[in-house]
Amino acid sequence: MNSYDAEVYRNFLLASGWLETDQINDALLVMVNTCAVRQKSVDKAKNFILRLQHLKKERSFYVGLTGCASSLDDFEKLIKKGSVDFYHGPLNAMEVPESFKEFTGNLYSCSNKITATYQKKSSISAYLPIIHGCNSFCSYCIVPLVRGREISIPFDILHKTIRQGVSEGIKEWLLLGQNVNHYGMDFKQKITFSSLMNKIASIDGVLRLDFITSHPKEFEEDLLKVMQDHPTIYRHFHLPLQSGDDEILLRMKRGYTVARYESVIEKIRHYFPNASLTTDIIVGFPGETAKSFDNTMQFIEKIKFDTVYAAVYSHRPGTLSSTFPDILNPEYSKKQLQELLDMQKNIARIQLKRFLNSTNEVFILSSKGAHTYEGKTLEEKSIIVSSTHELKAGDLAKVSIESIKKGVLHGSVLV
Ligand code: SAH
Ligand code: SF4
Repeated sequence: MNSYDAEVYRNFLLASGWLETDQINDALLVMVNTCAVRQKSVDKAKNFILRLQHLKKERSFYVGLTGCASSLDDFEKLIKKGSVDFYHGPLNAMEVPESFKEFTGNLYSCSNKITATYQKKSSISAYLPIIHGCNSFCSYCIVPLVRGREISIPFDILHKTIRQGVSEGIKEWLLLGQNVNHYGMDFKQKITFSSLMNKIASIDGVLRLDFITSHPKEFEEDLLKVMQDHPTIYRHFHLPLQSGDDEILLRMKRGYTVARYESVIEKIRHYFPNASLTTDIIVGFPGETAKSFDNTMQFIEKIKFDTVYAAVYSHRPGTLSSTFPDILNPEYSKKQLQELLDMQKNIARIQLKRFLNSTNEVFILSSKGAHTYEGKTLEEKSIIVSSTHELKAGDLAKVSIESIKKGVLHGSVLV
């Protein structure tokens, strides 16, 4: 969602005739797109703005603050002090905010009317939010507080947007939502996420389809059946576990048990034995004991994820868990986090071997030099592909997977 928001602003400015630079010293406007999920990223943004404030003494330029954290108290002082010239919260609608258009238009003639329904990730790939906001209120999470309640985008709008993107060369679609399984629940006439997937995957020209994030409490078998009918949908499931301990899951208000989570994984593997599975874990949630951490470690070892995104619990003011008394020592949690990541590194290395000596339909992303290309397998694994004939980004190629080098799959195109 953050990448999407950043792309909305970037593409609007580019389409309005602005040029992008990564040299702050050249910039007329510096945009700081923030994330509120963990305090670490809020602090990073704050420090960055303080640096900009310093640079502003030497040279005049503008600073824009956007994203989830812009409304937090952390930035109030900086805004009042004038270190920020423009600010705007997360985008919960599909258009570039009028106030931003006005601000940038005043700096530099800016007339382009672009709406932001999809944003290009590359010339062949795009982000598309299908649902904004979140209704779940997990006890540690600030997202519902900063992004508001769920709003699904009606299918006719999504359809029109995708048709438009396809005509512009977009072949891969990354559908976004805090909980995609809630898609359509806010409509009068309910529609399920799996039926939406069926409709989108049936649109001509959609060569690859991805979705993030699914919630383990609502994951339904229907989706797997739809995926079986559409080999264009990536066989990748990002299912945030957060903890492998039932008591902690209850305190997190996640709405599932470890057994329920495991049954979802079993179903996925029943349909797609080679599916890739990724997850999020929070280490050091208030009240986590050595035993509950150990339960998480054991469960991770049992499931064998391809990737685990783990972080130490971050105190977020306004959330339910910020009132919990039994706070852990973060230094202790950092050690546990490292232990978890070390274990996972080994699991990931072993797991990758399951793709050796198999064939896969690879989506080509870019050229890496003479007869060498970078692509993605159907399970969204990175792969380096050699080919005797020329390929281009967006092509599909049948590839024999032959080796693993430095943790990355390598293969050659079958002719
Ligand atoms: N909607 C997604 C996640 C959005 S936030 C879902 O339900 O999974 C992305 C990840 O950030 C979460 O999965 C969680 O692991 C992490 N996260 C959220 N709040 C956090 C906090 N207070 N401390 C540490 N990690 C947190
Ligand atoms: Fe946060 Fe839970 Fe909503 Fe995900 S589902 S955004 S973790 S409240």
